[in-house]
Amino acid sequence: MITLADHRALVLFSGGQDSTTCLAWALRHFAEVETIGFDYGQRHRIELDVRPGLRDQIGRLGLESRLGPGGGLGPAGRLGPDHVLPLEALGQVSETALTREVEIGMAETGLPTTFVPGRNLLFLTLAAALAYRRGCRHIVLGVCETDYSGYPDCRDDTIKAMQVALNLGLEARLVLHTPLMWRDKAATFAMAQELGGEALLRLVVEETHSCYLGDRTRRHEWGYGCGTCPACELRAGGWRRWREGGGAPPP
Ligand code: ZN
Repeated sequence: MITLADHRALVLFSGGQDSTTCLAWALRHFAEVETIGFDYGQRHRIELDVRPGLRDQIGRLGLESRLGPGGGLGPAGRLGPDHVLPLEALGQVSETALTREVEIGMAETGLPTTFVPGRNLLFLTLAAALAYRRGCRHIVLGVCETDYSGYPDCRDDTIKAMQVALNLGLEARLVLHTPLMWRDKAATFAMAQELGGEALLRLVVEETHSCYLGDRTRRHEWGYGCGTCPACELRAGGWRRWREGGGAPPP
């Protein structure tokens, strides 16, 4: 039986390029969309600052109209409440380049020092608890293992295992959606354009934040950032390949 929960989605929305594209994707596919974010003492707190304004602007893009009448989901794409949860404990237990004054590079583990152990596992557990209470069956997150920093908690198998664990532990039937899992950053730029045209693409470039150093003083063709941290390099590389493939920047 299809219930209201089947039309509701909760998006893990950080204010970055990937989660912004996922929010647009969710508005295309679900009738009611809520967002969740986490304050874990990240050094690049700028992402928390850009988040509310960015979210409001996405809500005003009218993405829902693209679903068309019926669309299988009724009057779709309404952007509901935002939930920001304090998660200082994560910053307290982890010693990473995103939560402490640690240099960005490779650790002895073979993983980048920007890897925050347990981050996505915690985020998903809290998102599932909130989805359970809010009557949302679907959880959407912008993880990707195609063009990424090598974080093991972004892998498809990790997310699938989390879905099983959460459903067993909550006696629920939640569905974890990862629309970017098999897309590289170039394809993610293309997806934003496909979902929301020039207007969404402009928001992605101007308003989303990816840079680990929180630099919003330097503006590149692909948006703001230091230009040299791993997050900036991924974003810049994706932009370049997308442009070479025929992608057009917003006017
Ligand atoms: Zn950067």
